[in-house]
Amino acid sequence: MIINQLINFIQEYYRTKDFIPLHAPVFEGNERKYVLDTLDSTFVSSVGAYVDEFEKKITDYTKAGYAIATVNGTAALHTALYLSGVKAGDLVITQALTFVATCNAISYLGAAPVFVDVNRETLGLCPQALLNYLEEYCEVRDQVCYHKNGARVRAVVVMHTFGHPAKIIELKKVCECFYIELVEDAAESLGSLYKGQHTGTFATMSALSFNGNKVITTGGGGMILCNEEGAANRAKHITTTAKQPHPYEFYHDEIAFNYRMPNINAALGCAQLEQLNGYIKNKRALASLYQSELISSELEFVVEPLGAHSNYWLNAVICPSKQYRDEMIAHTNQAGIMTRPVWQLMHTLPMFKNALRGPLVNSINLADRLVNIPSSVFDVRGLK
Ligand SMILES: *Cc1c(COP(=O)(O)O)cnc(C)c1O
Repeated sequence: MIINQLINFIQEYYRTKDFIPLHAPVFEGNERKYVLDTLDSTFVSSVGAYVDEFEKKITDYTKAGYAIATVNGTAALHTALYLSGVKAGDLVITQALTFVATCNAISYLGAAPVFVDVNRETLGLCPQALLNYLEEYCEVRDQVCYHKNGARVRAVVVMHTFGHPAKIIELKKVCECFYIELVEDAAESLGSLYKGQHTGTFATMSALSFNGNKVITTGGGGMILCNEEGAANRAKHITTTAKQPHPYEFYHDEIAFNYRMPNINAALGCAQLEQLNGYIKNKRALASLYQSELISSELEFVVEPLGAHSNYWLNAVICPSKQYRDEMIAHTNQAGIMTRPVWQLMHTLPMFKNALRGPLVNSINLADRLVNIPSSVFDVRGLK
């Protein structure tokens, strides 16, 4: 039976019969050294050199124009949407197959999410489904996109699910035709490329996350990426209580957020970023082992889309049926191997149950049958 074979494979790969989590961080580089450095210097909080250094290193790595570090990925998304001009009463189109943070950030601004289907191959927002929705329910007047209900459609948020890049170039084209801002929720996809370009650098504004379960972690943390200096300055200002720089005076020129990443978290981030290429190599090797293990079985291993180079943040398989999925999850967890279903679709949650939506055929099909399987980096330095 393939499930038992998979259990054996995972236990052999991680060299344990004890509990195996879905995704655990690894601290085997300069993490201790840099974090201790912030303690020794007393600069643990919102002022400190590691924040600037982490931002610089992320721009060097992703080739984004600018990066602004935040307390978490949700704060980065909230700020990105705010700076994209999303206001109360607006509509923001996104995928139903996402983590709740995407929709929470939209809601913080008094806007409402609209759910459109995902691609079967990318698991991210489908450009054709987006186009179909816009053509059926929306129209452009004076370079402004309106829904038939009168609300303004201000932005689209695409999420690169499990690190696999969505069809970002096609999505960008559709958004341009309808005068809609595109925001990338790249929380899961740091290091993933589409046609050689980093996810998070296609849209006007993007958000990364460095939560404990992401490809690299700062404990808690996030980052806004953008390509324009003006937007970057606005992002920095609005995430630091809109304080005018001054040696001792407190002057704030607008209502703003306290969203800046503390130095102690950025120190961890600097050390983790040094390991990122190794992690991705390791994760891609594991994905390839999973793929060979499951080849010609009834479990379909989710592979990177055409044209993409994925960080394979979280590995996934698609089961033949919902019943099979439930049995697989029960069986693997009983064996001490953590697996879980994908997030419940956003339109099934109480706060979004009345949200507008298009057909969600692929989303529903995936939500019924997809299972995430262990994906932690292991053995970065050879045998332990
Ligand atoms: C992790 C994640 C976020 C942001 O999470 P934080 O915990 O706030 O850093 C946002 N969107 C998606 C899709 C995520 O996976």
